[in-house]
Amino acid sequence: MSTSLLTQLADALRSGAVKVVDLTQPLGPDTPVIDLPPIFAASPGFSSEVISRYDDKGPAWYWNTIRLGEHTGTHFDAPVHWITGAQLPDNTLDKIPARKLVGPACVIDCSREAAADNDFLLTPEFVLAWEEQHGKIPPGAWVLMRTDWSKRQGRDAFLNMREDGSHTPGFTPDCVRFLAFERDVLGVGVECVGTDAGQAATFDPPFPAHNIMQGSGRFGLASLANLDQLPPTGAIVIAAPLKIVDGSGSPLRVLALVG
Ligand code: MN
Repeated sequence: MSTSLLTQLADALRSGAVKVVDLTQPLGPDTPVIDLPPIFAASPGFSSEVISRYDDKGPAWYWNTIRLGEHTGTHFDAPVHWITGAQLPDNTLDKIPARKLVGPACVIDCSREAAADNDFLLTPEFVLAWEEQHGKIPPGAWVLMRTDWSKRQGRDAFLNMREDGSHTPGFTPDCVRFLAFERDVLGVGVECVGTDAGQAATFDPPFPAHNIMQGSGRFGLASLANLDQLPPTGAIVIAAPLKIVDGSGSPLRVLALVG
C-alpha cells in the first residue's frame, strides 16, 4: 500500500499535480536578525569567507566557511532554545526524531489583520472561526500564521522597530496554550523574525510562543515566505534543521508539498 502511495506521489511530482513550494527566505549578509535590548548578547548575522575559489588555495574547487547565529533567517526553534524546554527529553536538534520533521500544515490567513494592525495577535477565537470553515486542526500539524510579512523589503520594514521596541504580529498566550494543549500541534510557524509578537516581552508569560511551545516539546519556524501559495489545509511541510549536536536551532530549507 505504501509503495503505491509513494509511486503515486512520484508521478504527481513529475506531472506537476503536486508542486513543491519553497517557504524559505534567501540567507545572506543582508538577512535581518532579531534586535535584542543591548543588555543581552546579540546574535551575529550571516557572514562567509572564501576558503578557495579555483585559485592556488584550491585550483579546481570553490567553497566557503560560514558564520551565523543558529536563529538566523528562515530557521527552526528546538525545545532546548527556551529555558522552559531545557530539561525535556530529545530537546536538541540532534535528538529530535526524524518523524517529527514532516507534517501537515494548517495555514491561518491573518494578512488583512496584520496589514491593518502591525501588533495583531492571533486568538483562540480566530482559530475556532478558521476551524468552522476548514475543519479541526489535527494533532501533529504545523500551524502557519500567514501575515504576508515576508513581503516587506529591507531590515527596517521587516523588524518594524520603534522607540518602544518591535511591532510585528504574533500570538496571545491563550492562543499558544490552545494550540499546544487543545490541538496538540507540532509547532507554530510565522513570517516574522521570531515566533513571538514584537511586543511579546510585555506579555504574561513573556514570549509565550517560545515559553509554551518550546516548554511543551514543540517547535517553531520563523522568517517563512510564500505562505500565500499554500492552501488552508492539505499541504505537507518538510522542515528538517541541521543535526547540530546540542543545537538550539538552525537555518533550514522549508519545503511544502501542495496538491
Ligand atoms: Mn528562533
